[in-house]
Amino acid sequence: MSNAPGTLYIVATPIGNLGDWSQRAQEVLTQVSLIAVEDTRHSNKLLSHFGIQTPMIAYHEHNEKVASEKLLARLLAGDSIALISDAGTPLISDPGYPLVSAAHARGIRVSPIPGPSAVITALSASGLPTDRFIFEGFLPSKMQARKSRLENLQADTRTLVFYESPHRLIETLVDMIAAFGGERVVVLARELSKTFETLKQATLQEMLLWVEQDKNQSRGEIVLIIHGAEASGPEAAEVERVLSILLKSLPVKEAAALAAEITGGKKNALYKQALYILGKNAK
Ligand code: SAM
Repeated sequence: MSNAPGTLYIVATPIGNLGDWSQRAQEVLTQVSLIAVEDTRHSNKLLSHFGIQTPMIAYHEHNEKVASEKLLARLLAGDSIALISDAGTPLISDPGYPLVSAAHARGIRVSPIPGPSAVITALSASGLPTDRFIFEGFLPSKMQARKSRLENLQADTRTLVFYESPHRLIETLVDMIAAFGGERVVVLARELSKTFETLKQATLQEMLLWVEQDKNQSRGEIVLIIHGAEASGPEAAEVERVLSILLKSLPVKEAAALAAEITGGKKNALYKQALYILGKNAK
């Protein structure tokens, strides 16, 4: 056993298609002393398919802290260890943060072995702006918390990326319509790199209808990507100011029509904005 600490490798695994797995990822997993996995039975299938016989240890969200200490002790004693998750890149909505942060604190070398991650895979093919985006992971499962998370993102101009579980897709689309409006563009990226891969771009309202009509579209693994809000420069702020004043004394339709005349904006869009302003003020 050497006195120098070993290396902690963070190794990505395929998100569906086994052909996407790199040679280097497989080599590293063959060479390390131990592989920390979320689920030994699940990873055993992948590892035996590739003839990798390195011992495994369970590392999941329920034992992260205790397991981290054991792994750190082995690393400090000179063993190199790899961390993988069930699929994709570890730590991206997956366990591993306590281990990696403690490894840095204790001067242990951490080396990433890059590979698939659903967030980047979906974003790259979404057709939505990729220059600035925000990854929100999974939305909270409690309705109120989910709604307020979405409301806080309402004016964010960056592309928004969410992981979604199939049984909540319809509920989430409904909540997104409430927060962003039915005209906001969304991309449903489902079963990427697998047989039933789907990438569909539509407005939130159209997407909800489509998913309700074809239950297969809420099956499997899903990433939702939402177009960011239109940039609200000084002009947009002025439109909102005009609309807010008119709404004090006029019904929504008239206020939107007059605001369109004053600002040169579109009546339809101003009508929706007026509803949003009224909703915001009612809270
Ligand atoms: N660490 C993984 C990664 O790097 O993508 C993500 C793990 S998270 C527990 C699992 C979620 O990722 C799924 O619920 C889904 O939202 C997304 N996901 C994983 N594989 C996917 C795929 N093949 N197609 C679409 N989404 C996928």
